[in-house]
Amino acid sequence: MTARILDGTKIRDEIFAELKHEIGRLAHEGIRPGLAAVLVGENPASQLYVKSKIAACEQLGLASWMHTPPASITTDQMLRLVETLNNDNAVDGILIQLPLPPQVDTKRVLEAVDPAKDVDGFHPVNLGRLVSGRPGLVACTPAGCIEILRRNNIQIEGANAVVLGRSDIVGKPMSLLLMHANATVTICHSKTRDLADVVRRADILVAAMGKPGYVQADWIRPGAAVIDVGTNKVTDTKEAESLLRNFPARLQKFREKGSVLIGDVHPDAVSTAGALTPVPGGVGPMTITMLMSNTVKAARLRRSKHSADTTTAQSTAGAR
Ligand code: NAP
Repeated sequence: MTARILDGTKIRDEIFAELKHEIGRLAHEGIRPGLAAVLVGENPASQLYVKSKIAACEQLGLASWMHTPPASITTDQMLRLVETLNNDNAVDGILIQLPLPPQVDTKRVLEAVDPAKDVDGFHPVNLGRLVSGRPGLVACTPAGCIEILRRNNIQIEGANAVVLGRSDIVGKPMSLLLMHANATVTICHSKTRDLADVVRRADILVAAMGKPGYVQADWIRPGAAVIDVGTNKVTDTKEAESLLRNFPARLQKFREKGSVLIGDVHPDAVSTAGALTPVPGGVGPMTITMLMSNTVKAARLRRSKHSADTTTAQSTAGAR
């Protein structure tokens, strides 16, 4: 069996088209949703992430602002910047790019963001809404995973779903979204015993561990849907040769480039799973997509006369 590939880029394009329509409608009401990104210091990976988020805003016609305080910023200065953005009515979404420098109290800064503008869905108020199944802003990566499942008509209701990882930004919200969609959810972490046996029971597997190729192909129940959140850069030749032994073209690319992106699921799983997100090109494009979706949703909830649940992308990604 060769798995159906769950293409995140295709779903991003679908959702972008829906968002453009929604943004056009908001424009008739005189509303232009806006995202303010805060990028502290000069971490090249963070710079790249924020640049692609701003580029997505520009592609969709959203307003965007980039604040770039120096790496020496204090917690108090960050709190003042967040307060300014909270009070700016043109700003619908506030994105604090992580990680922040060690002297900054990250939790305090994230908790200072107005929950109505918390487009990352990290604020305890939004997490609480998610726990209790109320509409709110949901963390982008897990919201994107649900979109992938729904838009590929993968049945969640009644499914045995196994989530590998319990982080605040992926594993926990993912498990809650699956539970609200009526899956029976098992959450695994580094202390879980007999992981392979637990994974074998999954109709839907979501892997978010940060361990390249950890989930072996023969752990996966034939026909299961696999959402691979892991994004691991592999640079070691022996590791790449072992992971890509059945993928000569990818191995050749690794040799030319010196690195390859590998998910948490072994690439050989393409022969056992029924459906599978590729890495790259699966969950990755969905994270920025759902950030855009959350920004439009935040604008609609805060500023629009229209009701909260008018867009498919919004309603299916919400906490319900
Ligand atoms: P994280 O905070 O490091 O959490 C990793 C989780 O995996 C933890 O809960 C940990 O358990 C669990 N874990 C680690 N080793 C395990 C093992 N051997 N067996 C079972 N569970 C194990 O990572 P994260 O932020 O959630 O991210 C996870 C992965 O997703 C990373 O590769 C990251 O790069 C990727 N990611 C991708 C996107 C995207 O847009 N594609 C977005 C976010 C994250 P404990 O709690 O017991 O330590």
